[in-house]
Amino acid sequence: MTKYDAIFIGANNSNLIAALRLAKNGYKVLMLEKNHIPGGCSTSFIRGRFEFDASLQELYEYGSTEEPGLLYKLFQSLDLNDQIRFADIPNAFHVYVSSNHENYKLPFGLRNFIDKMEEYVSDSRESLEKFFQLGLECRNALKYIGKHKANTRYEVLLSDYPHFMKIANLSVSTVLNAINMPRKAQEILAANWSYFGSPIDTLSFVQFSSTFYSYIARGTKIPRKTSFEISLVLAENIVDNGGYIKYLSTVEEILFENDKVSGVKLSNGDIYEAPYIICGVSPNEVYGKMIPSKYIPKNALKLTNSRVLGGRGFAIYLGLNQSAKEIGLNDYSYIITNTLDSRKEYEKMGTTNVEHFRVSVINNANIAASPKNTCIMQFSTFFTNDCFMKLANPSNYYELKEQIANRLITLFEDMTGIIIKPFIEEIEISSPETFARYTNQPEGTIYGFKATGLDNLLPRMINEENEQFIDNLKFNSGFGTYLSSYATTYLTGNELAMNILASREGVDANE
Ligand SMILES: Cc1cc2nc3c(=O)[nH]c(=O)nc-3n(C[C@H](O)[C@H](O)[C@H](O)COP(=O)(O)OP(=O)(O)OC[C@H]3O[C@@H](n4cnc5c(N)ncnc54)[C@H](O)[C@@H]3O)c2cc1C
Repeated sequence: MTKYDAIFIGANNSNLIAALRLAKNGYKVLMLEKNHIPGGCSTSFIRGRFEFDASLQELYEYGSTEEPGLLYKLFQSLDLNDQIRFADIPNAFHVYVSSNHENYKLPFGLRNFIDKMEEYVSDSRESLEKFFQLGLECRNALKYIGKHKANTRYEVLLSDYPHFMKIANLSVSTVLNAINMPRKAQEILAANWSYFGSPIDTLSFVQFSSTFYSYIARGTKIPRKTSFEISLVLAENIVDNGGYIKYLSTVEEILFENDKVSGVKLSNGDIYEAPYIICGVSPNEVYGKMIPSKYIPKNALKLTNSRVLGGRGFAIYLGLNQSAKEIGLNDYSYIITNTLDSRKEYEKMGTTNVEHFRVSVINNANIAASPKNTCIMQFSTFFTNDCFMKLANPSNYYELKEQIANRLITLFEDMTGIIIKPFIEEIEISSPETFARYTNQPEGTIYGFKATGLDNLLPRMINEENEQFIDNLKFNSGFGTYLSSYATTYLTGNELAMNILASREGVDANE
């Protein structure tokens, strides 16, 4: 039987990056993916003359050649930058509030953003400047902690990141109040809360401000040929570096020998062996279905059960038979929300009456995303619990998702005054059921474990080693330390591989 150095369950973002890093360092890697293509959510599908990205609307942390972000540097270190072409997203977000018919359109660039906000909310400038300074400090502090993890030195934090130390465990609302940001400015800023899956009264300020800083300072991108392009490039590079990827291969069981992980068994009975097993699926799936209970440490179960699942995805993909300009779609990113009160919206999102969603007009970043004189729109939102799955059954499933889609499209038209329904040539709707079936993530969650209260990015970073319950069994996905998004899953995968290399070869894990 062939033995590998590491086996990856799932060819998802984090695993693709980790497998490539290890393969480039001479490791014999095997990826086992249950679908027939790589990527997990990072994929595309074709309907009629349109190719839709299944997920990615905004890639954070890439930056540019002149101002490289974390992702640019990561791709550079893996020789990927010349293989993927990106398009710039032109503006930050345009938020429409249905309860009071207000709307606010915000640009990228710290100076432009602050100037525009000051136009909307007078006397907000000073607090916004403080907000971005804090965001930058939090970002640098996180970099320091990411490098040192459990060996983080308290004295260094205190001397180099004094504000960070004061706010490290506070929520977004608490800090924005403390820096005297006017209420309206807080609300506009926080319209983006849903990307984090938590309302701002429980969302960690450190997490929000550090990401928001980079979002506004660096802007965002999309790949010119959908996120599937990135997945394909990663898969090709793995194979070119001697790695193996087997598709249509569902892992059913993780095997143990002498109380140590030793390999996996597929649903067809095939067995593959390796000393490292790296899971692109959730701990819920792994502990719940793949490991005999005698091997599961009590604390691993306790921690997994205590965590809350992040949002369950819902998306609508539209192919329109007119150009964005002809239809009057002038922005890239619309956020439609009933109220700017994130707590109220969050609670409503626990029902199928969700009214908070994001709409991206892909051609406004990448004109060639669809044939001439057409355009693509993607609506996305999530449910904060399994309300959709509870309501849906085989006889009402299609009706239920169509009802929700129709309501969201109508709401978009009512709010923006832009009529799109007559131009719809293709429509596809993905529900939590779709995502659960495709990715195997519990209840169709697309954001890993919810980061909330004291269980957020920072404690997860510091506790990472304590959460290593079974030697050489690693979790590598949106359920990992850095939470769920494209950038974070790629960065998680890289860090995991660097740690494996460091443990064997003394490579600096934080290169
Ligand atoms: C509609 C939508 C819009 C989004 N928009 C954005 C955005 O604009 N920006 C952003 O940063 N993020 C966005 N995201 C989130 C982003 O897509 C996810 O954070 C990321 O793709 C999650 O990757 P993952 O590594 O957790 O793995 P997943 O994508 O969940 O993949 C898991 C993989 O494991 C495989 N697998 C599962 N079980 C097995 C098994 N037993 N054996 C073998 N293989 C198995 C699955 O087939 C799958 O390939 C969006 C997501 C969705 C759905």
